[in-house]
Amino acid sequence: MKFLAAAFALAALILPAAAEAPFAKDRIAWNKPAEPFHIIGPVYYVGTAGLSVHLIKTRQGLILIDQGLPESVPLIEANIQKLSFKLGDVKLLLAGHAHFDHVGGLAQLQKDTGARIVASAADKPFLEAGRITFGPSAPIPFTPVKVDCVIGDGEALSFGGVTLTAHLTPGHTPGNLSWTMKIVENGEPHLVLFAGSLSTGGNPIAGTPTYPSITQDYRKSFAKLKSLSADILLTEHQDIAGEIDKSQRRKMGAPNPFIAPEALPAYVAASERDFETALAKEKRAP
Ligand SMILES: [Zn+2]
Repeated sequence: MKFLAAAFALAALILPAAAEAPFAKDRIAWNKPAEPFHIIGPVYYVGTAGLSVHLIKTRQGLILIDQGLPESVPLIEANIQKLSFKLGDVKLLLAGHAHFDHVGGLAQLQKDTGARIVASAADKPFLEAGRITFGPSAPIPFTPVKVDCVIGDGEALSFGGVTLTAHLTPGHTPGNLSWTMKIVENGEPHLVLFAGSLSTGGNPIAGTPTYPSITQDYRKSFAKLKSLSADILLTEHQDIAGEIDKSQRRKMGAPNPFIAPEALPAYVAASERDFETALAKEKRAP
């Protein structure tokens, strides 16, 4: 009893601090469960309510783009299986960027599937150290992984009859990655963009910036994404592209709402506006 009383007293001391941990409320909201769904062609959604995990079916197995939080893994694995896919068929794990909410589940998913990890050279050191060294995500470590394959800007990753082209879109992190994939649906060609995060995400961008070229990097990334004529936009936080909303509309018989050529220019314009506003505000700050 004495031990129990001591344990409760200790818990009372620890719990309020834990509740105030960075991103504690976001993690709970992001990690609410979501049903998996088909997007278009070989592309499916197997993420949580807040964090996208995109699955691509190929002749040689499955590719997963992003892996959510550590606590997302059971939900992601259940979603893969709900679509009648096997965990052992996951062969490639593509890391979007080295923040705990997108690669926190990477180590466990690799352990459970035996898949190989693909990432950019600039984010590789953070993935292998298990933490990013700057920005608001810095206090939140994740299990480190070994990157098996480094992909560069403009390089193609061909696997099982599918080709994904990597686009470095730095800013949010130095190695933030986006991917494009051509598909044909009902005889019509489409370009799917798996867009890397574009938000400032609390990164310091002026004065003492997060890293020296961050401002130029964000602006180059906006320009690069504007030059892509992707008509299907998918984002690392699903609500930005409205993926769950679109899957609901589709159930009601709408023509595939994921085909939306206006979505990418609107997303880039809004991100650019937010970035320039944040930069101006930081410059004004004492
Ligand atoms: Zn991020």
